[in-house]
Amino acid sequence: MIFDKNYKILAVDDAKDSQMLLAFDLQSVGCEVISAGSGKIALSILATTDIDLIILDLHMPGLSGLATLEIIKDKGDWQMVPVIMLSSSDGENEIVSALELGASDYVVKPYISKVLFARMRTALRLREKTKALEDLAKTDFLTGIKNRACFDELCSNAISQAQRNKFPIVFAMFDIDFFKQVNDDYGHEIGDKVLIAFASCLAECFRDYDIVARIGGEEFAVCLPNTLMDEALIACERFRVTIAKMRVSLNNDTNKEVDITVSIGVASSTSATLDMTNLLRQADIGLYHAKSNGRNQVVDADQLLDNAIVTIGDFSEYTEEEKHFIKARESESEHANEAQGAFVIEGLEIEIGMANVLGDEQLYKDILLMFYQDHAGDVIKLSNAIENNDYESSKHLVHTLKGVSCSVGAMQLFEVTKLLDIAINEKNEASYAPLLKDVVTELNLVMQNIDTYLASATDS
Ligand SMILES: [Mg+2]
Repeated sequence: MIFDKNYKILAVDDAKDSQMLLAFDLQSVGCEVISAGSGKIALSILATTDIDLIILDLHMPGLSGLATLEIIKDKGDWQMVPVIMLSSSDGENEIVSALELGASDYVVKPYISKVLFARMRTALRLREKTKALEDLAKTDFLTGIKNRACFDELCSNAISQAQRNKFPIVFAMFDIDFFKQVNDDYGHEIGDKVLIAFASCLAECFRDYDIVARIGGEEFAVCLPNTLMDEALIACERFRVTIAKMRVSLNNDTNKEVDITVSIGVASSTSATLDMTNLLRQADIGLYHAKSNGRNQVVDADQLLDNAIVTIGDFSEYTEEEKHFIKARESESEHANEAQGAFVIEGLEIEIGMANVLGDEQLYKDILLMFYQDHAGDVIKLSNAIENNDYESSKHLVHTLKGVSCSVGAMQLFEVTKLLDIAINEKNEASYAPLLKDVVTELNLVMQNIDTYLASATDS
């Protein structure tokens, strides 16, 4: 199966035959295709429809491919949609401009469907990876609720909104009482179980538009936009009671359970200046009082304003989860490097080929296999062209070869095909034969080495 989902593709081309061919090819691999005959039509479709990927012709009358691309990449909502440009063979400068404007990739017309699919797959995977990373960066590893960074971002938006609309806003800080004792008595696994249960209870007790986050080890925070202090105190008290009643079972074979309590400090925008640091600091003062007054209680920090001594945590430090996240990502990229060094094929700069598919080794190998299947026969075709002085038929072949050799990292082959391609464009016929010879020699070498590699890969 070529694609793992039924992607919705917007195919933009002024040529009717090209549109039909794209629709046919893409539908045959399970994509849903919406065709557009101009840049303007494409933009109007984008405004009303969620699109997974755009295939965009460079040469169109009216709004050109580049102009359309520029508008797409300028619009916040559409920026993330990958765009693959369709270009005729001699549009090198335009391709560079398109890539600079944010196109994901390009395919030369007449396109080879396998190559188009491979590029689409890469672009779609990249977008999904990026999105997953973005989501991950906002989520607390253990509990699945928002993390500190995400809390800060959402809260500063909520505060600006409250300021603009003159709405009240409330911050509440939560700390599980004697949590260290839970870890010491039952171990970290149970400690984690308690944190997860606490977090899911917190998310359940507050409203969907409240911002609920884990901001430290056993510290949680909730921002309640458009809420009065009295309402927030009722919600926090209800949560405190729920937690006091909650039981977390130790494991399956005993009936033993852990019970916990929570201390809560609450501060509203009526008491502090409207700024997140101040509000959190104020809520923290409430929390501090709840702790020192015997825990398991909710404290209204607005009332403590005059006599508080402030101790603030250092938020510039990473939390354990953030450290864990950073470490995991570091080791992931180390593994990626190891994988890159895992195989060598002479004539190919594997790192370049792998970088083209963002280190996705399997995808690179798939593309390499396609490259071999599609172009191993070119050696004979090009040799015949030299023998018969028939350069016309090899023009297109050379151009395609130039593009794909760069994609797979066959850089020497890319260099020699590039020279030949230039000579063909400049109609410098005297140099065709010697350059073609260089291409055949290099192509032959690369294909033999890939063949050897593929054979050994099948053996093992
Ligand atoms: Mg066109």
